[in-house]
Amino acid sequence: MGKMSEIHIRMLEENFQGDPDAYLEAYVNNMQPRPIDILHKDILCPNCNKEHLIKINKVDMSCTKCDHDFVYIANDNSIKFK
Ligand SMILES: [Zn+2]
Repeated sequence: MGKMSEIHIRMLEENFQGDPDAYLEAYVNNMQPRPIDILHKDILCPNCNKEHLIKINKVDMSCTKCDHDFVYIANDNSIKFK
């Protein structure tokens, strides 16, 4: 069984509803996939400028590349350093 199939099966097992590409990206990046809410893919990490942020919950966002945490400000759709 190929690696891609394994990931797809895991995605089905976790009943992941989001973007499969985003899931794969997160999987490859931290190799420990968890049910994450991948939103605001357009927000580039202001710390490393290499990766888009993932949303952990309503206010917490994190970078899968440099592991920096941010707070999401819903009012103006922006983020700030924690
Ligand atoms: Zn980063």
